[in-house]
Amino acid sequence: MNETGTMNEAGGDPIIYLHQVERHYRQGTGALAILEGADLALWPGQSVALVAPSGAGKSTLLHLAGLLEHPDGGEVYIDGMATTALSDAERTHIRRVEIGFVYQSHRLLPEFSALENVMLPQMIRGLKRAEAIRRAEEILSYLGLRDRLVHRPAELSGGEQQRVAIARAVANAPRVLLADEPTGNLDPHTAEHVFSALTQLVHATGVAMLIATHNMELAARMDRRVTIREQKIVELD
Ligand code: ADP
Repeated sequence: MNETGTMNEAGGDPIIYLHQVERHYRQGTGALAILEGADLALWPGQSVALVAPSGAGKSTLLHLAGLLEHPDGGEVYIDGMATTALSDAERTHIRRVEIGFVYQSHRLLPEFSALENVMLPQMIRGLKRAEAIRRAEEILSYLGLRDRLVHRPAELSGGEQQRVAIARAVANAPRVLLADEPTGNLDPHTAEHVFSALTQLVHATGVAMLIATHNMELAARMDRRVTIREQKIVELD
């Protein structure tokens, strides 16, 4: 065990560690408990599937891990740093630098090209335009989209749109990639293609990936599988 109390699994500290996290929503006069004393640690280069029924709290967990929501108790450590007491500006900064998101629907900006969609987060972070173009071209080419740079989202297939969304998520070289049913809207063949793109990136970049998925076949091929049971994170296998 190290000082954050986590097992030292992959020869180092976890890049993200949710410790005794609580989350409940108001329901009438009472509270609906989603997470209570939930623990989860992810190490660099690790892919983890979050497999749980609808309504179990997968999106809630991803939002907490991505600093989009505050826990009602417990702590979220990113690279060893406690984040709950930080200001909104500091949390936003960590989110921009350390965390990438992929959603079920691509959420690309429709009036911009694939290249521009991947450039934008880099320019928001302060990269010069030429450097953002160079990196966007490199990432999109790596994901097999070299011939789709100037296409707008509507001119791309569902699988291509999702690969652009993945490229955008990793454009700033995050340490953590969070994905909420990223292949949920895709046919099995395309889902396989998008999943391969994600796992390739994990191995190539050492990012830690947490994917909420219903696809047990894909989950079986990831490094770990976890679920939410009685408001806690439970390791499967
Ligand atoms: P999943 O992603 O596993 O389907 P969610 O994390 O979206 O589950 O939701 C978990 C539970 O919390 C669900 O019962 C949902 O209705 C409830 N919930 C989610 N967000 C809110 C909210 N903002 N207010 C009240 N209840 C919510």
